[in-house]
This record gives sequence, structure tokens and C-alpha cells, in this order.
Amino acid sequence: MKLNKHYAELSESYLFSTIAHKVSAYQAAHPDRDVIRLGIGDVTLPLAASVTEAMKKAVEEQGRKETFHGYIPSEQGYEFLRSAIRGYYADRGERSVDLDMSEIFISDGAKSDLGNLLDLFDVDNTVLVPDPVYPVYVDDNVMAGRKILYMAANADNNFLPMPDDSVHADIVYLCSPNNPTGAAYTAGQLAEWVRWAKANNALILYDAAYECFISEPGPARSIYEVEGAKECAVEVCSFSKIAGFTGTRCGYTIVPQAIVSDGQSLNKMWLRRQTTKFNGVAYVVQRGAEAVFTKEGMQEIQHNLDYYRRNAAVIGAALDKAGVWYCGGKNSPYIWMRCPNGMGSWEFFDWLLETANVVGTPGEGFGPCGAGYFRLTAFGDADKTREAADRIVAALKTL
Ligand code: PLP
Repeated sequence: MKLNKHYAELSESYLFSTIAHKVSAYQAAHPDRDVIRLGIGDVTLPLAASVTEAMKKAVEEQGRKETFHGYIPSEQGYEFLRSAIRGYYADRGERSVDLDMSEIFISDGAKSDLGNLLDLFDVDNTVLVPDPVYPVYVDDNVMAGRKILYMAANADNNFLPMPDDSVHADIVYLCSPNNPTGAAYTAGQLAEWVRWAKANNALILYDAAYECFISEPGPARSIYEVEGAKECAVEVCSFSKIAGFTGTRCGYTIVPQAIVSDGQSLNKMWLRRQTTKFNGVAYVVQRGAEAVFTKEGMQEIQHNLDYYRRNAAVIGAALDKAGVWYCGGKNSPYIWMRCPNGMGSWEFFDWLLETANVVGTPGEGFGPCGAGYFRLTAFGDADKTREAADRIVAALKTL
């Protein structure tokens, strides 16, 4: 037996374990302090009532012989859910995107598809990822032994790296709105990436997991708003953030029919891969996901998204008051702030924990370009977020 040697090349992720360790050590030393966590990437509001009702009904169906559903007729997902997703893309006014039903694939979440899609690509492909980055993009490719190039996301490019024509890669990852920086591309900026991808015969893996947070007219909600993107981009999306499915698990991926390389259709390859290695997402979960797109479901989830948006606005207002530079927070649940007084990310982490009893995530945990930056999230409790924001302002005043 020979093991995959590339697993030994993975760098240990100490980020969240180091944070947990530091916070529990601090709490042990100061049991009376109320530490507020603004570091979490998980949602905190429960599933919408329409979703749980639809799931309860589906559970009942599964318990009766007449309405029982066994293996899913198509591993690609039930037509009722794919059709609802098709409607979600079409119903965007000027930004309407027309998808063919055959291009929509239901998954158990964006993370699985981001990894599984790589089955379709040669290990000789070079991949390009932003720095700082959602670490999954890097680790998926390290495991396969692919060469990884990094592109700097920094204050000079507003944390939105643009293509460099002197750099060639075969696959590029774009995440917009971005985790961790909260920065979001406009359709005009994405058009530059589409142009670069075509010139390089490259594929764009577009992670739209946070598209539901876009509330301003500027940023694109889908890369397919750009003409020609269907020839070079796969879009991965998730119910995790739009509808709180982080523990329920459902996502979807768009693999356009127009992506063809060396006579092979990527859509056909992905269908073949999924029908061989995947038996689909639970009927009950797909019914719950379908309910997200009903009129009531949409109203309920908008209510939840507004709750997180208000948290983001509270954090943003506190940083404005303290005169701290940040991006994100407006079309994203993430606020990416510059550490004050030239502090390092971990230095600021320790200082904020000590001074304000607030926990965030040090930027350099997402890559070297994150050094000197810090991520705060809007997924917490509203009262606690307000309290944390007040404490941050008061703490920054003492500097
Ligand atoms: N993509 C990004 C950028 C994320 O931040 C996350 C989760 O935090 C995911 C994908 C994973 O989504 P899912 O829960 O659908 O697997």
C-alpha cells in the first residue's frame, strides 16, 4: 500500500485551535469576564419556519408507503429544487441569469463540491488562489499535488486582485463576496477575469456562497452576469448562509453546457462523476431547500439576513467612529479591519481579548497578506454584537 504523499505536505491549520486555546486560557484566568465571540463563521439563527414545515411534511411522506421516496431519480437533484434555483437566478431583474435545468446540480454543500470538482482536472494544472484565502481552496489542491500560485489581495487593490496577463494558470478561484475580506467584485471586474480565463484556456471556480448578502447595486451576484462567463466559469453556491443550512447541508453548483475543452464537455464529466460517486441529497433536505424560494420562505430568510446585516452595520459604525480602516460588512457578513497602530494580527487578537474581552480572527491565519488585518463577523447575537462594538470603540480610544 502506498499512501497519498501529498497529505504530508498539508500545513497544519492552527488558527481556530490556537484561538480556542487562547480564549479558554483567558476565561480560566478571568472567570468573571463576559467574553464575546465575533470570530465565528457559523450562522446562529435557526431555520425559517417555511423550511422546517416543508421538512416535517417530507418526513411524514417518507413514513408512508404511498408517498415514500427511495433512491433519488437523479443524483443531480430533484427537478422541483433545480427548477426553484433556476427561478432564483431568473428573477433578478436586469441581472437575470438564464440557466438550463441540466446545468444545475444539487449537493450537500459548497465545500464538498469545491473539493469534488477537482476530480475533473489533471493534476498538472496550475491553480491560482487569492491571498488571504478560504483555506479549503489551497488544501484541496495540496492533497492532489497541484502547483499553487498566489495573488495578493491587499489595500492597494481593495482586496480584489485583478488578472495579471503575465501570469498563466489553468484554474483560478474567485470568492465574492469574499471570505475572509468581505470584498465583492463588480460585473465589470469579473469581465476582466472572464477575458483572462479565455486567453489562458483557464477555468474560473467562482464561489458565490455569500451572494445573498449583496444589497447594494454595485457587486455582481453571479459571474454569469458577465457575457461569455458560461464558457469558462463554474459557480458554486450554498444554502448555508442564505438559509442557515450549515448543519442541514445543501448547496448547488452550476456547470454550464458551454464549457468544452479538447472536445470534452465539463457538464457531462461532472454528471458522470456525480452519478458514479454520489447518491444525491436527502429528499427531506431538498424539500426544505425548495421552501427557501417560496414567497413566505424568501420573506423569512430576508428577515434573518437583515438581522446579520444590522450586526455588520453596527460593527462598521463602531470602526468608523474609531477611525479604523476596513472593507466588507456592506455586502458581506465579514468585516476586514486594519489592526490599529501597526499591530500584528495576533498582537491585536491578544490586545482585544485583554482590553475589550472580544474575540475575532487574526488575518494572517488566512495567508501572509492577512498580516496586520483582523476579521470580525456579523453572525452573532444582536445584543452581544452591540455590546462588543461599544467595547471595541472604548478600547481603541485608549490607544
Ligand atoms: N465557501 C466559502 C467561501 C465559505 O466561507 C464556506 C463556509 O464557511 C463554504 C464555501 C462552505 O459552505 P457549505 O456550508 O455549503 O459547505
